[in-house]
Amino acid sequence: MKDSRCIEVEALARVRDLPAGSPERRHVEECPRCRAALLALAEFEREVGDLPAEADAPGANARLSAAIDSLTSAAPLAAAPRRAEPWM
Ligand SMILES: [Zn+2]
Repeated sequence: MKDSRCIEVEALARVRDLPAGSPERRHVEECPRCRAALLALAEFEREVGDLPAEADAPGANARLSAAIDSLTSAAPLAAAPRRAEPWM
């Protein structure tokens, strides 16, 4: 069991940019917990950072919310399948 401390999530991006031989980066490469955290960070950055400006994420989110609102408030309840009455 190694004794070196795990890298804080906030420091992972900095540690990733350290030279390959530095102790903190070696720890990340050897520690499953830190490696998993680094992978999660990379995935998060891919999702957040790769959106082109024209994707208009806030606008898309507002449109999605509006669409959900109109679906949930204006949906015709009569179209919902009714439970069959057992005595019929
Ligand atoms: Zn660790």
